[in-house]
Formats: sequence, structure tokens, C-alpha cells
Amino acid sequence: MIKKDICSYDHGQLKNEIEAMGEKSFRSRQIYEWLHVRLADSFDEMTNLSKKLREQLSAEYEIREVTLTERQISSVDPTEKFLFRLCEGNMVESVLMRYSYGNSVCISSQAGCRMGCRFCASTLDGLMRNLTPSEMLRQIYQIQKLIGERISNVVVMGTGEPLDNYDNFLQFIRMVSDEHGLNISQRNITASTCGIVPNMRRLAEEDLQITLALSLHGSTQEKRKALMPVANKYELAEVLEACDYYFEKTGRRITFEYSLVQGVNDQPEDVRELTALLKRRNCHLNLIPVNPIKERNFVRPDSKNAHEFKNKLEKNGINVTIRRERGSDIDGACGQLRRRYTAVTEGESDEDICDD
Ligand code: SAH
Repeated sequence: MIKKDICSYDHGQLKNEIEAMGEKSFRSRQIYEWLHVRLADSFDEMTNLSKKLREQLSAEYEIREVTLTERQISSVDPTEKFLFRLCEGNMVESVLMRYSYGNSVCISSQAGCRMGCRFCASTLDGLMRNLTPSEMLRQIYQIQKLIGERISNVVVMGTGEPLDNYDNFLQFIRMVSDEHGLNISQRNITASTCGIVPNMRRLAEEDLQITLALSLHGSTQEKRKALMPVANKYELAEVLEACDYYFEKTGRRITFEYSLVQGVNDQPEDVRELTALLKRRNCHLNLIPVNPIKERNFVRPDSKNAHEFKNKLEKNGINVTIRRERGSDIDGACGQLRRRYTAVTEGESDEDICDD
């Protein structure tokens, strides 16, 4: 029998499920609290429920497995990387970054990715599958439990394209910021997209307060196309219009991400074109010196060049920062830990298949 993914139901949906079992609605509040506040991994932990109800629950529902497989702790800064195993054996990685303002977790939204960005390790093997809301939530829950400290900020910038998994991503955002769960302020959540225009526009209309980050990476349609296949589908002009629409609807300033690749998009003309694109926009530009992956020969500009690039933009009135590198000693670039692991274990075992 296919078991239902109980941790993906929001508060109202769980209430309906539990009432349909003939239970009182306060039971659903108790169960929701076990799952999303006490962060239970099994129904056995739910000791204020009768044994019979726990048995009924585990016959019908599952708490989707997100199991720690590897934990890397950086020795250069307070960053940790976690590799989690999903029920059918796919791996996803998450990163914990400790800041003065709190603990931030970067989660994955898909196992693999089908967007094909040229410099990105997460997309090299394509998309395995979408993550469910529970699997996104439980990356955060597991880290919060492991470190015994509250997570206050979330970035959806791990493996995957959140807007290619729209419904699950949206449910995740609503649940992680829900007062009945971890209650993380939407203003402390950032989601990054490569620019799936219709879903950016949909997101603008969801009445959310999360920050939207756009992976820009090229200052013209042609340059973007050379780095990001998604640009074949959506023109830069439409992507920027969708950003403006998001700002107009939510009042949230867009963050533009720009992976700096030596000799590709770090030239004086790029400064000019970027300035023209961003000058009249109320936005922030985050430069990410590219993290070279061995499968491609992209080169990271040295720190001096990256700073010069930034200074020129700043002089032109652009609000710009260089992303501080974190955890450089622990498989820094997106998807690299997962890939290393997959390469090592490939073909080793027949993993059992998920219920659905
Ligand atoms: N699919 C989302 C999230 C991806 S990861 C998106 O495209 O925005 C978050 C950011 O890291 C994106 O801007 C992505 O383009 C960038 N990125 C991926 N691999 C990188 C690498 N090797 N070096 C620098 N930035 C990288």
C-alpha cells in the first residue's frame, strides 16, 4: 500500500485527514506539533497518542525519510555541510551557515536538476525527481536537531530549481513560515531561480514576503544563453519584467546573482551592460566568483579582479557585494558533495524504490 506523506500536509489538511479517521481535531494539533515543532522522526515518539492511534498512523502514513549520511564541518569558518539520503536512495545536500544574526540553512529543492546551467555541478546528471514539501522541511528539521540550535533563516539555493517544483516549493514556504511549525519569518527566506518567467509571476501573486533571487549571470540575452539553457526559453527582457513585477507586487527588493567567470562575463563591457540593466532598479547584486567544477573549464577570477569589477559597479551606483566564500574546504560548490558521493557509491546496491 502506498503510504501518505504526512509531513507534507499543512495544518488544515492534516486536520481533515485526522478527522476523517474519526479522531478529534485536537489530535491533529498534537500530531502537527510532533512533526513540525518537536521534529519527530517516527510515530513511536508521539507518546501522548494512544498506541492504537500510533499504529493506525504508521499503517497509513509515513514520515518521509531524510537521513544523515555524511556531515562535514569546515575548519575555516562556522559552516557545515550535510548529505541526506532520501527514501529511494537519492542524495541531497544542505548547508548550515552560522552568522551573527542567526543560523541559516541552504536546502535543496530537487534531487538533481534539469536546468543545465553550464557551471553548475547539480545539473550534470539531470533531474532525478522533485522533493516533496516534507523532504524540504526535514532537511532543516534534521539540522536543527543535530546542532541543537534554532534555524532562523532559510535559503533555497541548494540543488534544484524551486520554480520547476512549484507546488511543493510553495507548500514548503507556507509550512516553514507557519506559526504552527518552525515559524521562520518569510522575510528571512530567500529562494533563487534561474528565471522561469511564468512561475516568477505566479509567485509574485501568492502574497508572500520572501526574497526572490534571480540568477542573472549574463548581462545580455546572448551571454546568458551561453551559460544558461533556460535563456533559450525566456528572453532576458521578460525575465527582468517578471522581476519588476515581483517587486511591484511584494515590495521585496530583488537580489541578482552573478557568477563571475574569468574572461566570460567579467569584462569592462559587462560592467557597462550590467549598470544599464540594474541602475534604475531597486535591487541588490551579489557577485559569486565561480566555483570551478572539474567537468568544465570555467576559471574563477582572482580576488583583485573580482574586487575591481565590484568597485566599478559600485561607482556606477549599483548596490553590489561579493558573496563571502564559506566552507571552501568542504566541497564548496553546489552539488559537489552529492556528486562525489554518487560517483563513489554508484552501482553498489539496488536501492529499494519509494512508495510513489
Ligand atoms: N536553481 C536555482 C538555485 C541554484 S543554486 C537558480 O538557478 O538560481 C544558487 C546559485 O548558485 C545560482 O545562482 C547558481 O547559478 C549558482 N551556482 C551554481 N553553481 C555554481 C558554481 N559552480 N559557482 C558559482 N555559482 C554557482
